[in-house]
Amino acid sequence: MTQLDATIRNLVIGNRILAHQNVVDAYGHISVRHPANPEHFLLSRSRAPELVEPSDIMEFTLNGGVVGDDKRPPYLERFIHGAIYAARPDVNAVVHSHAEETLPFGITSVPLQPVIHVASVIGAAIPVWDIAETFGDETNLLVTTIDQGRDLARHLGGHTVALMRGHGFAAVGATIMDVVRVSVYLPVNARVLTTAMRFGPFKPLSPGEVANRAAFSPASASGWRAWEYWARRAGVREMLGDMP
Ligand SMILES: [Zn+2]
Repeated sequence: MTQLDATIRNLVIGNRILAHQNVVDAYGHISVRHPANPEHFLLSRSRAPELVEPSDIMEFTLNGGVVGDDKRPPYLERFIHGAIYAARPDVNAVVHSHAEETLPFGITSVPLQPVIHVASVIGAAIPVWDIAETFGDETNLLVTTIDQGRDLARHLGGHTVALMRGHGFAAVGATIMDVVRVSVYLPVNARVLTTAMRFGPFKPLSPGEVANRAAFSPASASGWRAWEYWARRAGVREMLGDMP
């Protein structure tokens, strides 16, 4: 299997896991930087992640242009991915999701912050990007131009997650396994925090706890354990390779 084939296989597994974990539904997507060309990225054609197959994967430039004469309809919001890859050389995988649990934190002044150990990977601070600040209050809130993608990437800065007001979130990782882990635990963390706030004051993870836990490697035996479990439950057992 070539490196490109292995990358596409992992991208399909990532699609299926995010769908099975209800991080994405008919909408939302995951991409990966092209393993042989850092100026390109790989992303499914416009299709629900639960249904994505290797043959659905298309190749794009960082401006969101389709590579080759692929005539299949791409996702409207592919600019999220290209703009982030252009701004962040350390990022090799990106997720965009409309996960409902995260939405209250994009429309209120309550910051989304890590409160449970598995969510330390989301980072200590999560900026909120409001498309209306730069593009006015008559957009459809979707990131449908490269300028909008670049504005989002600027607000993401060096963080792992940016919330998108009234829309969802964008998350990044060094690998597909990294970003899937962040994207699975982000809504879990948001749900726990929302519940805790009904009880009263709550205690977030300390900066030291975030820094300590954030050193966790998804490629470790413990990280692989989750990847294998999620992949098998998502029905893509046969696509799993060996533990890296
Ligand atoms: Zn969206």
